[in-house]
Amino acid sequence: MIDSHTHVYSEDFAEDLEAMLERARTAGIEQMVLPAVDSSSWERLWALAQRYPDFLYPTAGLHPTSVGEDYLRELAYVEERLDGYPIVALGEIGLDYHWDTSYREQQLEAFATQLRWAHQRGLPVILHIREAFADAFALLRELALPGLRGVFHSFTGTEEELVEALSFEGFYVGINGVVTFKNSDLRDYITRIPLERLLIETDAPYLAPVPKRGRRNEPSYLPYTASYLADCYGIPEERLVEATTANARRLFALPQH
Ligand SMILES: [Zn+2]
Repeated sequence: MIDSHTHVYSEDFAEDLEAMLERARTAGIEQMVLPAVDSSSWERLWALAQRYPDFLYPTAGLHPTSVGEDYLRELAYVEERLDGYPIVALGEIGLDYHWDTSYREQQLEAFATQLRWAHQRGLPVILHIREAFADAFALLRELALPGLRGVFHSFTGTEEELVEALSFEGFYVGINGVVTFKNSDLRDYITRIPLERLLIETDAPYLAPVPKRGRRNEPSYLPYTASYLADCYGIPEERLVEATTANARRLFALPQH
């Protein structure tokens, strides 16, 4: 299976990086997509992806929670990495009004700019949208970038927001350990996502699935989410893994080996 969204380059893994990656392989993780956040961690991401070229795939992008005073400099940093680096997506980009809305206008501008860059280059986008779906949908509609593809990663919105997200052709929905949480009602409508538009992810080191909830998350925990989702869909786990693996390969153009 493919962990379509994991921050294994995070400092949280500095102590046991090799062992953690080995556990992932043993658990059946064949490939991983490493979403970028901002310039402060990109060198780590890039260096790690270069060490494991057939296993870890880099992206570049400015995360909405990293949009601040210096966002134009950060955007320039992203732009420099779009050409000449073998990135598989532009991400993670989007809007996040959960922690802070003081840079709302700048978040919208950074999001729009990066969506256009992705479109110009035919790159898929990894979207991080938190408590901001109305603005995100409105912007995507307003920009109307034909053929733009991507994923609504770590989707935790309402059923109505899910239906609207699916109305964007070429977009997948990324589901992680949150679906296994008792206090999440995602499971009630998760199967509205057609199997051919579903991606699975850990978002490690965050959001570890039950039964590892509360611990540091890592890619080797992805099977817990896969098996939970297979139950929701009422299908064998192998079928869910086969479908989501094919989806991730298609979206990020990952080689099969
Ligand atoms: Zn992330």
